Amino acid sequence: MEKPLWAPWRMEFIRAEKPAGCIFCLFPAEQGEEADHRNLIVHRSARAFTILNRFPYNNGHLLVVPRAHVSRLEDLPADDFADLQAELRLAVVAVRDAYAPEGMNVGMNLGKVAGAGIADHLHWHIVPRWGGDTNFMPVLSDTRVMIEHLDQSWTRIRAAFGA
Ligand SMILES: [Zn+2]
Repeated sequence: MEKPLWAPWRMEFIRAEKPAGCIFCLFPAEQGEEADHRNLIVHRSARAFTILNRFPYNNGHLLVVPRAHVSRLEDLPADDFADLQAELRLAVVAVRDAYAPEGMNVGMNLGKVAGAGIADHLHWHIVPRWGGDTNFMPVLSDTRVMIEHLDQSWTRIRAAFGA
């Protein structure tokens, strides 16, 4: 029987004061490398961007987000969707190059009941996986202890994107 692992930064997320407004709209609106570093944005495309999850379930846990503020997949215009999917593919490759995981969970949590932390602005999760990290498959349940600092993750993933 696998012991559930404690992820204290998740409590930090739950308790953290949420900024007014949507961070997936606010963060990419800020320009420049300094802002991207502070906001943990690792890559931008024309209509989407990739950002490190500040409260990750594993090292290299990325969120791939459309610039458009929509909660429902069917509300995303076709061009935005195509660009989002292209960005998702680049991000998967970047994670593979940066971390060489044995597998990945790629998924969307649509709606609060499905586990979406920011339900109003849809986004992909990419969670790199290694054998033995945890048996628990869903992206939004429990996890293991993180070993890498977010600054290191930012530098590593950006390099993998070829920035
Ligand atoms: Zn938004």
